[in-house]
Amino acid sequence: MAKKGYIKINENRCTGCGFCEMFCKKGCVEMTKRLSVLGLPVPEFTNAEDCIACAMCAWMCPHVAIEVYEYLEAPASA
Ligand code: SF4
Ligand code: SF4
Repeated sequence: MAKKGYIKINENRCTGCGFCEMFCKKGCVEMTKRLSVLGLPVPEFTNAEDCIACAMCAWMCPHVAIEVYEYLEAPASA
């Protein structure tokens, strides 16, 4: 069973600092040109396939805008 992750970004708390993109070593988060209701650029979780639920993005977010969920994925059967 492989550990996999999924994150939720609360755009109402996000200030667009980009730390989540910067510190995700798996390249799962990308800043976009889309603006939140606050008029700030928002990140998106663009690569769920490689997320390992390490929670680095959440730890580095200064505004506690990210929640990390962890699940186990069964190996593909041969
Ligand atoms: S939990 Fe880890 S791998 Fe997943 S998006 Fe956050 S920093 Fe990247
Ligand atoms: S680290 Fe937090 S505040 Fe900064 S862009 Fe990511 S979600 Fe937004």
